[in-house]
Amino acid sequence: MIFSKAFKDIGEVMFPPQCLGCAEILYPSAGQIFCQACSNEIRLITGRICPVCGTVFPDSPAPGHVCGDCLENKTYFSRARAVFRYETLILNAIHQFKYGRNISVGETLASFMAGFSFSDIDFPDYSLIIPVPLHIKRLRERGFNQSLILARALEKKHRIPVDFSVLKRKKFTTTQAGSNRNERKSNIKNAFEVRNCKNIAGKNIILVDDVYTTGVTVNECAKMLVMAGVQKVSVLTLARVLPN
Ligand SMILES: [Zn+2]
Ligand SMILES: [Zn+2]
Repeated sequence: MIFSKAFKDIGEVMFPPQCLGCAEILYPSAGQIFCQACSNEIRLITGRICPVCGTVFPDSPAPGHVCGDCLENKTYFSRARAVFRYETLILNAIHQFKYGRNISVGETLASFMAGFSFSDIDFPDYSLIIPVPLHIKRLRERGFNQSLILARALEKKHRIPVDFSVLKRKKFTTTQAGSNRNERKSNIKNAFEVRNCKNIAGKNIILVDDVYTTGVTVNECAKMLVMAGVQKVSVLTLARVLPN
């Protein structure tokens, strides 16, 4: 332990942590990934949102107003909520985490997510947390599942167990960036399967992913879970893409 701490300290002297936004050196660095000025630029999801998918309405419609996407597309989750707007600084941090394999950035984001108060998520209502799985090929390539790291932080904070054995990704899909909703939908169709149905029957589940883009991935997962007997699926993501 002492050695690993000493190495960490040496590492910090030689390569002091820098703000992911502007590269300013961070003092003190513990648990920080942005300087104060950059932190102030980061926007949380606030204001009037769709009660189902959590998109932010530009104006203030009547309470309970459901967005067009949710009216047009069947959603199998009861609500989806996110912490951050998916904008440059958060996008860069998530990319550092996922593609730069920077687990400590991931853990900082995860602990912020775990401590975030989602106004209409009552954690004691849920008995299981399930991360959106990666295909085994992708898992080997990346070395970790970013959603599992987020789920672990929620597990620790809210004392709800994580189960990553229930939902499996059986279809390898290429990256979905840039594809539209229909392309994503057909790409993701039948990509998941549920195992050990008896572990989830009748339960309320929190499904965790890093980014909510169009919602087709989490909706496909929720569909499989609901078909396997889950009572209610609520989706929590670190960030959410919002229409311009
Ligand atoms: Zn900065
Ligand atoms: Zn909606």
